[in-house]
Amino acid sequence: SRIIATLSRPLMVEGEEIITTASAGIAMNVDATPLSAEEHLQNARAALAKAKSCGIARSASFTPADRELLLRSFRLEHDLHQAVDQGDFLMHYQPIVRLDTGELHGFESLIRWIHPTRGMIMPGMFIPLAEDNGLIRPIGEWVLAESCRQSGLWRKELGGRSSGVTLSVNLSVKQFLQPDLFERIERILDRTGMPPRLLHLEITESAVMEDPEQARGVLSRLKSLGLLLSLDDFGTGFSSLSYLTRLPLDILKIDRSFVMRLGHDARTEAVVRAVCDLSRDLGMEVIAEGVETQQQLDALRSFDCQYVQGYIVAKPLPPEEAGKLLAHGTGTSLPEPEAPRTRRTQILPRSVLD
Ligand code: C2E
Ligand code: MG
Ligand code: MG
Repeated sequence: SRIIATLSRPLMVEGEEIITTASAGIAMNVDATPLSAEEHLQNARAALAKAKSCGIARSASFTPADRELLLRSFRLEHDLHQAVDQGDFLMHYQPIVRLDTGELHGFESLIRWIHPTRGMIMPGMFIPLAEDNGLIRPIGEWVLAESCRQSGLWRKELGGRSSGVTLSVNLSVKQFLQPDLFERIERILDRTGMPPRLLHLEITESAVMEDPEQARGVLSRLKSLGLLLSLDDFGTGFSSLSYLTRLPLDILKIDRSFVMRLGHDARTEAVVRAVCDLSRDLGMEVIAEGVETQQQLDALRSFDCQYVQGYIVAKPLPPEEAGKLLAHGTGTSLPEPEAPRTRRTQILPRSVLD
């Protein structure tokens, strides 16, 4: 505790206050079984991981149960390396619809790991690990190339019905700070023939806020490719409103944690309404994430929110089902659209909208 407290004291560097924190993992050989130095360090590392998962500037002591957790995480890491080599991943696509017309606007690409024995593993289980060990680079590159390839396939197969349908791809913090990110994306656009304006890159607040000035440079450069930029999970990080005015962002995605409280909490409603108004005034589009109920949909409509994404429309779909949805408007849990088809596939029926 003394070490953590000492390291947490602010430092002055060239007149700027710098705040650092430290976490500590403690391993003690209490049962007197001889341990090698390597094993001792592994135990301390397991305790450190536990401390970090509890929050900032914490300490934790090693217990035998941590060993099992550590072994599991080693195994997962080993398997993830193999998955990257063998390409054991699949993209799912979740529809984003226009709230005023119910038409399909685009899809968000979401990665799934198809593990040979454990089946489908969700990104929350392995993206943080991939960020830690650097595998996020090859994974992220594959995600972008695969999403653009799939979009090209749909454009070829479905022609006009898929034209204008956007694809949103998540970028992790590590990818965002990669020095050659621009060149890599440029190459993928060239190779796949993806029209840049149909590609939306989703960046989280925390990625942007880590170094806003650097972020501004990276975002501006990416925008020069002609693609659009979304701020993902808005409201969950240390949102600074001034950065909204200074960063070249096109779309703001309101996090599910806000959407889920719509209809239950007047204060949250006030915040979501204000965010919708603000983005409109700043010339940005708004997407509400994680919309599950009619009540949430109604609240969002009353705020003039432009787009929604969530289980009320459809869960993330495997490529074949997303393709069917694109072609016929089928494949969601919602009834068939009643209105005559417009240029874009209408997937929210009129009854839900009116
Ligand atoms: P995200 O970018 O905010 O994606 C939205 C997440 O919310 C997805 O979870 C989606 O399945 C889920 N979701 C959508 N609608 C609903 C709803 O109505 N109810 C509920 N309960 N959940 C809903 P998923 O696919 O598990 O992805 C989780 C996170 O993992 C994503 O959050 C994103 O941050 C990250 N991720 C996913 N795919 C990729 C990827 O290809 N690259 C990177 N770097 N990160 C990814
Ligand atoms: Mg996202
Ligand atoms: Mg999100």
